[in-house]
Amino acid sequence: MKIIFASQNKNKIAEIQNKLPHLEILGLNPLIFPEELLETGDTLGQNALQKARQVYEKTNSTCFSDDTGLEVEELNGAPGVYSARYAGEQRDSEANMDLLLKNLTNQANRKARFKTVIALILGGKEYLFEGICEGEITHVRSGAQGFGYDPIFVPAGYSKTFAEMTMAEKSTLSHRGKAVEKLVDFLNELDD
Ligand code: IMP
Repeated sequence: MKIIFASQNKNKIAEIQNKLPHLEILGLNPLIFPEELLETGDTLGQNALQKARQVYEKTNSTCFSDDTGLEVEELNGAPGVYSARYAGEQRDSEANMDLLLKNLTNQANRKARFKTVIALILGGKEYLFEGICEGEITHVRSGAQGFGYDPIFVPAGYSKTFAEMTMAEKSTLSHRGKAVEKLVDFLNELDD
């Protein structure tokens, strides 16, 4: 079965394909979707659904999208749904990390969690799956793998950042990995 994943992020597509080896995960075709998908919701779930609906309307194919936020306890859950644009519209990961580290200067409480919501549209019906990964924000960047906030996030129970892990290692414990596992279980049950 082929499923469209409403993303152009090659890292994410690879992470998810890794978890769903029996399916073919197609990224967005830039000829059909030349513009970025609209993401104007106030919650991760609203954004995930909004993106999946745009893809379903144009392709009429089974599709899913994800939306992820990093919630920092000391910052009352910020940047949350605004994680991509934390430091401005340019969506620059380096600037986002700089701002987050600055806002946590001298803060002892560095607890944070990544949350992913996946919205699946299958046969016209909508389904949501959530995955959470608890952890902490470091004081400095470490590691060169991954993307986004990976160099400054250490998952609970580990002493290295996501950016110091292989994709397979990150994917077994990450927010997106957990949400994808729920999606996989759901799709596998349909096969039975
Ligand atoms: P999006 O929902 O994938 O667009 O992600 C929102 C923001 O969170 C962007 O700044 C991403 O770079 C960041 N982000 C999403 N997933 C991850 C991850 O697995 N690790 C680190 N940062 C992430």
